[in-house]
Amino acid sequence: MKVSITLPTPPSRDYEIIIDELPSIEIEGKAAIVTNPKVAGLHLQRLLQSVKAKELYIVTIPDGEEYKTMETIEFMLDRFFDHRLDRKSTLIAFGGGVIGDMTGFAASIFQRGIDFIQIPTTLLSQVDASVGGKTGINNRFGKNLVGAFHQPKAVYIDTFWLNTLPKREFSAGIAEIIKMAVMFDADFFDWLEKNDLYEDSNLKEAIKRSVELKARVVNEDEKEKGVRAVLNYGHTFAHVIENFSGYGSYLHGEAVAIGMVMANDLAQEFGYFSTDESERVKELLKKYNLPVSYSIESAEKFYDQFFLDKKSHDNKITFIIPENIGKYKMLSSPEKESVIKVLKKFEK
Ligand code: NAD
Ligand code: MG
Repeated sequence: MKVSITLPTPPSRDYEIIIDELPSIEIEGKAAIVTNPKVAGLHLQRLLQSVKAKELYIVTIPDGEEYKTMETIEFMLDRFFDHRLDRKSTLIAFGGGVIGDMTGFAASIFQRGIDFIQIPTTLLSQVDASVGGKTGINNRFGKNLVGAFHQPKAVYIDTFWLNTLPKREFSAGIAEIIKMAVMFDADFFDWLEKNDLYEDSNLKEAIKRSVELKARVVNEDEKEKGVRAVLNYGHTFAHVIENFSGYGSYLHGEAVAIGMVMANDLAQEFGYFSTDESERVKELLKKYNLPVSYSIESAEKFYDQFFLDKKSHDNKITFIIPENIGKYKMLSSPEKESVIKVLKKFEK
């Protein structure tokens, strides 16, 4: 299976996203695989059978979101200089979204920008993070605040890697698949209700459809000036949940699942989305053991937190809600009372 991405503005380029068994990868110049000890321990041997380069290096960085920092980028760059990588070299990101975002960012700044290839190994990174060219790191002011748009040269999505992925991580990726269906594609949503994603051929199909939808959005709006913001469905709520519960208690996809339930309630408050549609989304989330409930300490405090999000501009906030399954709506600065009313339903 194949998805093409066509970006209009230089320096962005077209690239292919291959959803299949990993092909052999031949790199003309030098290359460095960036990975972490966990992914390397599980899968590096298999990857090495498929990669050929003039010189091939492996750069290992610690595993975890807490290492998605400028310090780790410095460490990576030092290794690239040690290995005398040059402007013609290629980086290969081999891991989940953390590895992908950091390798992409390092590729965007090493000698003012070199090629990189994404080989995502978590479901979340296969359906979301590896596609679209957002790269970056966290700092003490927040997540993904420093980075660059830097499109990969290719994305190779092989579901084989997922065999070793913990169940919760798998489900977290499914939340982002469900997100795409609710926002953009009613047929895909129906299909998800009928087909089991634990079955590999179905999973490949779902990845393909999610990636196609994301590619379409990115083609239209690479730099998030409009429709790309729709990918934040559920996320405005999720970021607050992640902040309040401390990073680590909920996986991102789990927080997004709860966030989608909240966004659906908000949609209903404004006369969109039926109770039946809300139930269908909840059922689908539950099928993959994703959380659909959450207790808020204080609706007021939860509300205030929205405005600390980097995506809130001039104290205005836009909520992404479904109008129907398969159709999104942007709700700009809804009255506080209505939002509070919805949040109160989740109060302890
Ligand atoms: P992750 O990269 O931290 O991976 C989750 C865990 O799974 C890690 O411990 C990882 O080592 C492990 N792992 C990876 N592959 C495995 C495998 N095959 N088997 C067993 N374990 C494996 O997390 P993630 O959910 O993949 O990605 C989250 C990151 O992606 C966040 O930093 C987020 O900001 C970023 N993200 C970026 C975009 C984007 O557009 N650039 C989109 C969504 C998310
Ligand atoms: Mg997300």
